[in-house]
Amino acid sequence: METCIFCKILAGEIPSSKVYETEELLVFRDISPKAKIHLLCIPKEHFARLTELDDRREALLARMMRTIAEHHAEWGLADGYRLIINQGEAAGQSVQHLHIHILGGEPLPWE
Ligand code: 5GP
Ligand code: ZN
Repeated sequence: METCIFCKILAGEIPSSKVYETEELLVFRDISPKAKIHLLCIPKEHFARLTELDDRREALLARMMRTIAEHHAEWGLADGYRLIINQGEAAGQSVQHLHIHILGGEPLPWE
């Protein structure tokens, strides 16, 4: 996807602060953090929505979640973190490449 900003980050065409990388996913710092620590976990394969999941992508998403579970403490999130996946414009999805927001590093308001 030529126009996708996250694909450009994956291609190295836009710089990013990388935190963790495998052959199928990247974790990097959000450019406009909404919490003291704000990371984004993205698949290297471009797709935008959970409605585009198939069996293979379902397994990939599970591995993304497991990667977060296994490595969050290394990223400064041992005290807790919040995962958010915005889906669609009304929910604030501004980048059409599936991403998991990982927020933490401080107490997060909920109510
Ligand atoms: P969404 O609003 O689609 O759920 O989340 C997209 C996120 O991508 C936003 O939190 C935004 O700050 C982040 N973002 C947009 N462009 C860039 C960029 O060029 N680099 C980085 N690191 N984050 C970006
Ligand atoms: Zn993309």
